[in-house]
Amino acid sequence: MADRPAPAHCLSVDVEDYRQILSLRHRRDPGPLSPALERDMERVLEVLCLADVKATFFVTGTVAEARPDLLRRWAALGHEIGCHGHDHTPVWAMAPEALRAELSRTRRAVENASGQPAAGYRAPVFSIRWDTLWALDVVAECGFEYDSSVMPVRNRRYGVDGFDPAPRRYRLPSGLSLVEMPLTVARAWGRLVPVAGGGYFRLFSYGRIRRAAAECGRLGRPFVLYCHPYEFSPDPVDWTDLAGGRLGRLRARLECFKTNLGRTKVPGIVAGLAREFRFGPLGPVARQVRDHGTESILGTPR
Ligand SMILES: [Zn+2]
Repeated sequence: MADRPAPAHCLSVDVEDYRQILSLRHRRDPGPLSPALERDMERVLEVLCLADVKATFFVTGTVAEARPDLLRRWAALGHEIGCHGHDHTPVWAMAPEALRAELSRTRRAVENASGQPAAGYRAPVFSIRWDTLWALDVVAECGFEYDSSVMPVRNRRYGVDGFDPAPRRYRLPSGLSLVEMPLTVARAWGRLVPVAGGGYFRLFSYGRIRRAAAECGRLGRPFVLYCHPYEFSPDPVDWTDLAGGRLGRLRARLECFKTNLGRTKVPGIVAGLAREFRFGPLGPVARQVRDHGTESILGTPR
């Protein structure tokens, strides 16, 4: 990767086993890693290889501990390997000590498996909000160079409404510095919405997403895109069997329906953007921000 110039835009994959995560949510044993994860990641690698683009894979500790061979292979192919928490517990469900312990464990597992330092962290379900901004100090204390967990939108479950959407180096209350690489948002229907991954990304037309990426380029900011292995799966997402009770199954069916809506478009959108723009992993862009940007003081919670 050393001979490649720093990319203009950033491509990331949150590598988690959704069946294990949802088993935990439904208070069941997570069980072994799903074989679908390896299969879906092969499709991710194929799309990235055809587009000749490298990405950052934010991997959970459970995946790293179960299949270190996969991380070693992804790193050998030139992809950056970062951390995505141990078992996908949101930051808001943890006390600072618990987060510190889980980040240290995950970082060790990911680095041992990939054979490279893990510079970046992404919180599960973008769980760094105004009320959990303290987590950035823990992320910096654990040795990460950058974080990419802030979604600068107002949302019921996640988001830091009013947060600067541009990547910046922040001086934290602890005195440590950390680069924040927020996920890209855009204005639609009179408000800011996530445009670079998730439900809106799957619903927007390719042209709308392309315009958002071009706008980022004009503003001199990276378009920070995220996707998931299951969005590259040949089969529809289905976890209704994990939910208990009639209401639980009804809710699970609705969630599966929303997740599958536009899901099959994702590989094509990623491939198209990677062909049209200069995408790459987050690490090199974060290092540019660290070395050339001015330092900002982190805002206080509202
Ligand atoms: Zn995740």
